[in-house]
Amino acid sequence: MKASKEQCEGSKVPDSFAQAEDWAFMEAQQRFGQALEEFSESKFQQVKQEIVCPACGSERWVRDGHDTRKLFTRLGEMEVPRQRVRCKDCGRRFFPLG
Ligand SMILES: [Zn+2]
Repeated sequence: MKASKEQCEGSKVPDSFAQAEDWAFMEAQQRFGQALEEFSESKFQQVKQEIVCPACGSERWVRDGHDTRKLFTRLGEMEVPRQRVRCKDCGRRFFPLG
């Protein structure tokens, strides 16, 4: 269904004020989520020199995808991506940003 895809993207401006609050809320949630993702990435870039494996203390690790973390925000419950890394020496996976 074509209409539902537009709704998911949250960019279709509603026809009336009756729908405006829901629309604005969805827009706000989406931008809030993007802002959290940007924060997460820039924080990761900032601390990556100092990341060491909590199990063996190795500094040799690789990015190993993302998990999601549920956050209870002022805009309700949101899922934000959480960077996961894997230690090249002992294989331990961990989340350097907690
Ligand atoms: Zn390790």
